[in-house]
Amino acid sequence: MKKLIQGIVDFRKNLTQDKRELFAKLALGQKPDSLFIACSDSRVVPNLFASTNPGDLFVLRNIGNLIPPVTAPLQDNSASAVLEFSVFTLGVKDIIVCGHSECGAIQALVEGVEAGCCPHVSSWLKYGEESVELVKKGLILDPKLSKHNQISQVNVLQQMEHVKSYPFIEERIKQKKLRVHGWWFDIAQADVYCYEPSVNKFVLIDENEAKMILER
Ligand SMILES: [Zn+2]
Repeated sequence: MKKLIQGIVDFRKNLTQDKRELFAKLALGQKPDSLFIACSDSRVVPNLFASTNPGDLFVLRNIGNLIPPVTAPLQDNSASAVLEFSVFTLGVKDIIVCGHSECGAIQALVEGVEAGCCPHVSSWLKYGEESVELVKKGLILDPKLSKHNQISQVNVLQQMEHVKSYPFIEERIKQKKLRVHGWWFDIAQADVYCYEPSVNKFVLIDENEAKMILER
């Protein structure tokens, strides 16, 4: 907490004129073109690895970067509300589902959660159970990865399917007004990968891959 408070004091002290002007402009409204869905994990910092500024990304973070499918019960509708707001109000053109290595949610899915102490975590993680099953059935994108990292990558694809289960999203994809991407952050290497459908695996986002993503 001490670091957090000191960070606020430092931020205020070091705010440049450019940044002050940016915030003053942003106070009039936001127009991010992407929705970024990531895990709550403290080691995943999209603004850092994607070099974004305030106003660039609309962000949803939760345990395991999970999206309840459209058929999920209404009590889990926080993520669905983000999808609706992003598409209808902000008019985002891209939705990125970003998983990561060494994800505690995935490890919990593999090892099981003690429902007695954490009924909400246990209930929430059901939206990732299918990913574990898919890997058990043989869906492996990168056999060199540890089991939980393999599941984490498959989980990105699974959550992309959940995003696409919403009719208003499916409709916009068909009309080519919206794209859904799957990304994966490798914490140890600080590298970001993108799911590349043509080779059915996650590939490093370097200059060549960046070109392919933007042309897709
Ligand atoms: Zn995680």
